[in-house]
Amino acid sequence: MYDPLTSSSPGIGEPYPQSYWASEIQAPAPNPLEGHINTPVAIIGAGYTGLSCAYHLAIEHNIPSIVLEANQIGWGCSGRNAGFVLNGTGRLSWPQIQKKWGEQTAARIYAEYRAGINTVSELIEQGNIDCDKSTGGYLKVAHKASLVNGLEQQAELLQKQFQDPVHFIHARTLQQQYLHSQEAYGALLFPYCFGVQPLKLAMGYASLAEAQGVSLCSHSPVRQWQNQQGKHLLTTPGGTIKADRVVIATNGYTPRQFNGAVDNRHFPVLSSVIVTEPLTEQQLEACGLKPGLMVMDTRALKYYYRLLPDNRILFGGRGAIRGKDAGHLVYRQRLLNALLQSFPQLKGLQAEHFWSGWVSVSLDDYPRICKADDTGSVYYSMGYCGSGVSFSTQAGKRLAQLVAGDHSLPDLPFFDSPLPKFPLASARRLGLWAFYHWGRLKDNTSLFG
Ligand SMILES: Cc1cc2nc3c(=O)[nH]c(=O)nc-3n(C[C@H](O)[C@H](O)[C@H](O)COP(=O)(O)OP(=O)(O)OC[C@H]3O[C@@H](n4cnc5c(N)ncnc54)[C@H](O)[C@@H]3O)c2cc1C
Repeated sequence: MYDPLTSSSPGIGEPYPQSYWASEIQAPAPNPLEGHINTPVAIIGAGYTGLSCAYHLAIEHNIPSIVLEANQIGWGCSGRNAGFVLNGTGRLSWPQIQKKWGEQTAARIYAEYRAGINTVSELIEQGNIDCDKSTGGYLKVAHKASLVNGLEQQAELLQKQFQDPVHFIHARTLQQQYLHSQEAYGALLFPYCFGVQPLKLAMGYASLAEAQGVSLCSHSPVRQWQNQQGKHLLTTPGGTIKADRVVIATNGYTPRQFNGAVDNRHFPVLSSVIVTEPLTEQQLEACGLKPGLMVMDTRALKYYYRLLPDNRILFGGRGAIRGKDAGHLVYRQRLLNALLQSFPQLKGLQAEHFWSGWVSVSLDDYPRICKADDTGSVYYSMGYCGSGVSFSTQAGKRLAQLVAGDHSLPDLPFFDSPLPKFPLASARRLGLWAFYHWGRLKDNTSLFG
């Protein structure tokens, strides 16, 4: 599998991974860039960030753009994720956010997160996007009894500070009405979060952008980037683009040594997913998983799952450390074991699909949406730390405002600074290995409560 820490290109026209999502769609015909084109804005990467930016540039600012994608539309994380449309991004908790920036900024961040969910909903509506939207809400589940108090406090904080309609669910109700799991002692229910078929969502964004005149070029990896008299010359195998401004929307798939604005400013980390065979009526009853519900636990190394519309379970968590190990069956089996640990009543259930993707982790656990260089002509948004379906869509909208020079952006820390550099870029994987060991110890012993 392509490894962004060691490879200088994500490939050219690579097929979609053999995911459950890709098995449900027809891959669009290749449309590589050909010849030489001048454009005001070139966008690199056709995931949610790039597509949303292109669409909003066209519809809200009347600025045409061209999107260059190395492989297929939504080939990166946007076509591989679990489809949880959540209220947030990054890895900072609400108490950490409040401590870092104060209550007023925290309130603005909260509003931006909710705006992200609304933006996804609006785009689905505007484009009449058929992406199997499911509205069961998102459940954050305490996997140990000792974590229940923390969740109750979180519910209180969110209700009081932000009037969030979240509510706490006690173990008994949880087990009776939401899931019959061995590892569920209490939970927070966020009723407004919803699920999607992520690749269909990406396709829908692409259609919206194309309807506004955006050119989407698949099979077009940017292999060379030169400055020519104040303009950017981007070279792909089939053609070149001369652009006044460039948006980097490559997130976890950003190749090694791509551009000084982003090199070593994030850490690509693998997340993996299995999808099981469809559950029988008896299995459905035994696990009690409520249709439409999306679940994530409180582990340091989190697991997340949901029941898909055709009664399969999607179950995800951390993957391998290196790209070359990503497809190893040990990681598929680990996810299946974790699923069966939560639901032993499903013993014998098989995984039919297994795939992985690169999420982009920032050094200080929150993303940036920014103007990246002194010339004021390179922009990026990345570092969503594995939580970016709604936020990347919103970030694309914000990037469009930045590119257009629109000064009505809200006052948020995402815009204030570039992503910080990792001090020892080459030691990132050793650090991840150590974190995984610490996480396993924390999640599986009572030493840490
Ligand atoms: C297994 C998994 C599960 C996840 N589940 C969830 C979830 O349930 N909810 C949630 O909120 N988030 C989830 N995420 C994260 C979420 O999917 C991402 O944050 C989001 O999709 C990022 O979108 P993006 O457009 O920024 O990047 P991507 O979708 O990764 O797109 C980047 C694109 O850039 C292209 N590219 C790279 N280099 C070049 C180049 N040189 N030239 C041209 N193109 C290039 C790549 O081919 C790629 O298509 C998950 C991620 C994974 C991997």
